[in-house]
Amino acid sequence: MKGFEPLGTSNMLLDQLSILVAIGFSGASLGITLFVMWTVGRSETHLLNWSAGLALLVAGVVFFGTVVERYNAGFLLASFLLLIAGFGLVYAGCSKFCTGQTNWTLTAASVAIGIFLTSGAFALGYSGIGTMIGNWAIGALLIMSARHYWLARAESPLLMTMNAALFFITAASFIACGYALAQQGQIILTSRPANWAEEINSIMVIAGLTGIGTLSLTLNQICIANSHKSDAMKDALTGLLNRRALFDSNMDIAPAGTAVVMMDLDYFKAINDRFGHDSGDRILKTFAELIRANIRSHDLAARMGGEEFCIVMPDSSPRASAVVADRIRAQIEATVVQTANGPIRATVSAGIAVRSAELETLQSLLNRADAALYEAKASGRNRVQISGFSLVA
Ligand code: GH3
Ligand code: MG
Ligand code: MG
Repeated sequence: MKGFEPLGTSNMLLDQLSILVAIGFSGASLGITLFVMWTVGRSETHLLNWSAGLALLVAGVVFFGTVVERYNAGFLLASFLLLIAGFGLVYAGCSKFCTGQTNWTLTAASVAIGIFLTSGAFALGYSGIGTMIGNWAIGALLIMSARHYWLARAESPLLMTMNAALFFITAASFIACGYALAQQGQIILTSRPANWAEEINSIMVIAGLTGIGTLSLTLNQICIANSHKSDAMKDALTGLLNRRALFDSNMDIAPAGTAVVMMDLDYFKAINDRFGHDSGDRILKTFAELIRANIRSHDLAARMGGEEFCIVMPDSSPRASAVVADRIRAQIEATVVQTANGPIRATVSAGIAVRSAELETLQSLLNRADAALYEAKASGRNRVQISGFSLVA
């Protein structure tokens, strides 16, 4: 067994204990911050997972600190068990944040395997092997967390990739701690593990904690802002875009071949009067579903207000857009919605305008589609009318 430099004669810039105190305090303040943020938005359970994970990590660091003061295998084991469980909860939070759900079976199984193997080795008296396994288990949980950020990086490429990298580098520093012990053949420890990898690891943990903490808080705020933005663009009843979102869709000058279909349900007031407002709402939702089922992924569908809908189809033609509009018209005509006051059948009228060669704004296309819709209403309803202007073009 190799001897280790006693505390105080170390030539490190900071002694191990000071670094651990720094890790403990920054971990605790981050954990409290995350907890307070969770109390503000309780549906964001990843914040709770992270803060609970940090509480266990801080407890693990306290136990590790006592081992630095005076070696004790029991305390070293306690430290690793707390760290494995803590990093398990951190992983659970990462998977919730990145994918929207936590695979608790995988989380529990990974933590249980780490805890079982680490305690097993300590129980058999092989504290060195237990320490290696403990470090590797932590490394594995951190790599699993890194993987989630890497896979979800499209959400916010720079920040998510940086977070994945920080998780990965921190993981590597734990794996190196296990490797350094294995390399020295330290199967049984008689003092705290102290080697090059441990020194890199403490610095990496401080950097990781600060970096990952800041990035995670920032990403969380971006996520909240995005979800508010998407709520503000959506029509609450049908889930389609609202009028404002349609005008935000960056089509000041519509590209050539853009088709706009305006649709308005026929005699909708009469449906409301006869079957009630709730039944009217059901028709609106059913109609929105029909639209969704009939358009391509790059078409935009919006509820302009009341019983008026609009579809914007890029690279379309009068014929192609009329086929889609007429299919929707025929489908709503054939749909029967059952209500307490009897079955409802609704019909729709549509007006279409397609941008031809001249430059045309989205607003002008909408106006022409509206005029065509008015013609469809005037000539008997339940029909599709194409704006005369675009037919000539
Ligand atoms: P037309 O064939 O000429 O379009 O006749 P219409 O009755 O459909 O047109 P009008 O504009 O007179 O009536 C539209 C009705 O749509 C009036 C309003 O009560 C109803 N409406 C508007 N928004 C909603 C809504 O969110 N839910 C329900 N159920 N009805 C709505
Ligand atoms: Mg109407
Ligand atoms: Mg109307």
